[in-house]
Amino acid sequence: MGSLSHNFYGKLEIPVENVKQFYIYAGSNAMQDALDMARRIKMMTKNTPVSVVACDCKWAEKKEILADTDIPLLMCECGGQSFLGDLAEKILAS
Ligand SMILES: [Zn+2]
Repeated sequence: MGSLSHNFYGKLEIPVENVKQFYIYAGSNAMQDALDMARRIKMMTKNTPVSVVACDCKWAEKKEILADTDIPLLMCECGGQSFLGDLAEKILAS
């Protein structure tokens, strides 16, 4: 899922107005980077909802990092693949 983070990172350089909702996956690898990125996107976009999707590995730590933000933390299974797959389908279907 590292490549997903990189994609999001790249997209930070382009206008974000067309994005309706950001989902950032925070695995146990690079979770700090992912959560920092969530904060940055939140600050940049203001009106666009930002959610962090994370498995329950180090859940308490992830919650702690986001404790002073209003970014929701959504739980998914380890790896997040099928959750994000479902999510993509929902976004495409809506
Ligand atoms: Zn996990």
